[in-house]
Amino acid sequence: MTRIKRELENWYTKNARKLPWRDTLNHYYIWISEVILQQTRVEQGLPFYYNFITNFPTIESLAQAPEDEVLKTWQGLGYYSRARNMIKAAQTICELHGGKLPADYEKLLSIPGIGKYTAAAVGSFAFGISKPAIDGNVRRVASRWFGMQEPIGTPSSDAQIEILLTEIINHFSPALFNQAMMELGATVCKPRNPLCEACPLQGECVAYSQNLQSVLPNKAQKKKPKTIHMAYLYLNCGDKTWIEKRNYLGTWKGLYEFPNIILEEHRDDHNPFEDWFIETGKATIINNFNFKHQLTHQTIFARLWQISTAESNIVKEKLDTRLKIDADQLQEYPIHRLMQKFTGAIKSEEFNDD
Ligand code: SF4
Repeated sequence: MTRIKRELENWYTKNARKLPWRDTLNHYYIWISEVILQQTRVEQGLPFYYNFITNFPTIESLAQAPEDEVLKTWQGLGYYSRARNMIKAAQTICELHGGKLPADYEKLLSIPGIGKYTAAAVGSFAFGISKPAIDGNVRRVASRWFGMQEPIGTPSSDAQIEILLTEIINHFSPALFNQAMMELGATVCKPRNPLCEACPLQGECVAYSQNLQSVLPNKAQKKKPKTIHMAYLYLNCGDKTWIEKRNYLGTWKGLYEFPNIILEEHRDDHNPFEDWFIETGKATIINNFNFKHQLTHQTIFARLWQISTAESNIVKEKLDTRLKIDADQLQEYPIHRLMQKFTGAIKSEEFNDD
């Protein structure tokens, strides 16, 4: 252990990237950075981190922020449940912990939206709590280091990794060990072509000694994404249009989008919004754009119908629960990636018309 400790510490001290959340003692900033970095690469996450702490500089300001503002700041990062959960977590921290993150692993874990990884990462970086933080990078390093055959990412392999790393972290400064493992996964023990010659764990690594880097980690078979067909309506009544806030579960909950319906399939000969209009003849189809959008668990085939009509020609109840806005106000609302594709296509059509 003494040798591996020395090598890992030396390696980290020499090679760690300089990142703003590594130089701060502000527990809130450390927490924000950890949430942003889940499912997000450092280079992509950095501008979001700066924007977030500028717009919501304290836990109190986040707890009191309107959800739309937080989602707007988060727009483009994806996995929006992270942002929604952070608001709830900030509110709980204010209500139960006097606006400060508690310096206790179990208390951190009891806050809604803070899971095992975040509690261990924040706990070790901010408070020196000796708990291994296990994210995707750390799972990969551990599975190769220990030569684990079991598929990673399952509760039982996570439990196994936790036992192995808990034994080791106790010999280190917890913050340094967790940071070094994450950094190693991000920069050296990469998914493909790991840089074993530069790795401080090489002397003890099972995958290296048995040439198993390309087969480890063993990954559980992913489920095939589900296919969904959706029709979206970009309604033009003069300079007005309508949007709605998605209120059902899923990654886009709380974001705004054009009114939409789920279809069994798209049919070229049928306008699925026909019955939105009192007299179809008075509604003109201006454009019809097709999109394919890939989410982790879903492939969405979306068709955007741009239809122009007078407001008096729209069946009233179709719009009752929706929000009427100036079309050029759309950018003020938090929208998802597919909506960004729609607005990009609409803009380029308008540009072509000039
Ligand atoms: S020696 Fe290679 S496979 Fe093993 S932990 Fe280091 S980079 Fe990963």
